[in-house]
Amino acid sequence: MKKAELVLIPSPGISHLVPTIEFAKRLLDRDDRFSITVLVIPKSLTGSSEYTQSLPASDTRIRFINLPVVETPSLEKSEVSKEKLVADHRESYKPYVKEAIIKNVLSNSDSVPLAGMVFDMFCSSMVDVGKELGVPSHLFFTCNAACLALMLYLPGRDDEVRREFEDFDSACVIPGYVNQVPSKVWPLFLFNKYGGYESFVKHGRRFKETKGIIVNTYSELEADAVKCLMNDFEDGDVPPVYTVGPLIDMKGESDKIVFLCFGSQGSFGEDQVKQIALGLEKCGHRFLWSLRKPPQNDKIGLPSDYKGDHFQEVLPNGFLERTKKMGTVCGWAPQKAVLAHKSVGGFVSHCGWDSILESLWFGVPIVTWPMYAVQQINAFLMVKDLGLGVELRLDYRNTSGEVVLGDEIASAIKCVMESDNEVRRRSKRRMKRADQR
Ligand code: UDP
Repeated sequence: MKKAELVLIPSPGISHLVPTIEFAKRLLDRDDRFSITVLVIPKSLTGSSEYTQSLPASDTRIRFINLPVVETPSLEKSEVSKEKLVADHRESYKPYVKEAIIKNVLSNSDSVPLAGMVFDMFCSSMVDVGKELGVPSHLFFTCNAACLALMLYLPGRDDEVRREFEDFDSACVIPGYVNQVPSKVWPLFLFNKYGGYESFVKHGRRFKETKGIIVNTYSELEADAVKCLMNDFEDGDVPPVYTVGPLIDMKGESDKIVFLCFGSQGSFGEDQVKQIALGLEKCGHRFLWSLRKPPQNDKIGLPSDYKGDHFQEVLPNGFLERTKKMGTVCGWAPQKAVLAHKSVGGFVSHCGWDSILESLWFGVPIVTWPMYAVQQINAFLMVKDLGLGVELRLDYRNTSGEVVLGDEIASAIKCVMESDNEVRRRSKRRMKRADQR
């Protein structure tokens, strides 16, 4: 199927970049007719260089193109407000954006047709580039619908009164808000005489020149504001508004830690322990690993905890030191409490039924590593029948002498920890259903 390209132009601030990239990811998840290029404006007055640098790794489906650095005049030396400096800075990117689109999309024979541009609220002047290239422009509004209604109200008000807001204006009704908004909570740019107010009025005007406005909110939350925007649209005053939120990057927040725990009888020989350690280092996720010592007589007896936490007896040299910021190795773990913790994003389990039920109850997706008893067939049930487990092994037996390699362990963990993993989604849905019983 022939794809269509979308060019996204976020503002460099983290609170603008994150929802824009989340929006791109969700669009690609839902609609395979699009491919997406993001034009990255480097760190400036409000930029976040760390996050900007991490962008290319955030989703390999998205193409990132860095735009050149344009310095912003220093705020201290400037006569004008920060809002105006930011607006002028973004406007100065118009030729670079145009050039990047021509070079990378329009005149590249491998490229797909350009379907449109989606730019951040502070990049509203990019509507000119869209017009010059004959490409439809959409606005991406990272704040809420009520705030959008306020911004769309500014140009009409300015046409009438031609001045900034003053305290005595507090009787005026700001559309989008249910209650009358007291002037002491108004954003300061409304009062700003050094270009702040003027820049926002200009943004509001440019918003109206777009083909549509995408907002990071949801209508159940802001029913009144969304209704107000819909009415304005019906009156022909504003473009259609699409609510697509909440766009939140959950990665690295709630799904941080992988938990490895193998039931009351699970333990491994030294070779296997070393491969698990290798896998954990390789996958790069934070971890909590319940590592237990095999029974002295491996025919009978239960594993025990390493005395005085002497895990280095079996772990690779330097492993504990190298991973001290990444993870913890422990003995018997309070499994249910661990699984209940919101930071746990994946569970490498031996697939004992209690462990499976516990993981489902807390919505933590499983990587299957069965060891004994009915765990192999439980693993099969989870992976093949129910689609609730990521397969590392279905037929591993602790008596077989097989050593599962670190690489395989790393890729199973990476897979289960992916935020958009299908097994994760199903596990979360199951969690809700179990909760309703
Ligand atoms: N468990 C635990 N900490 C550990 C290992 C296991 O709390 O370090 C608990 C786990 O929460 C579960 C039980 O022990 O409730 C193990 O039962 P399961 O049926 O999963 O496996 P089995 O031990 O019977 O193989």
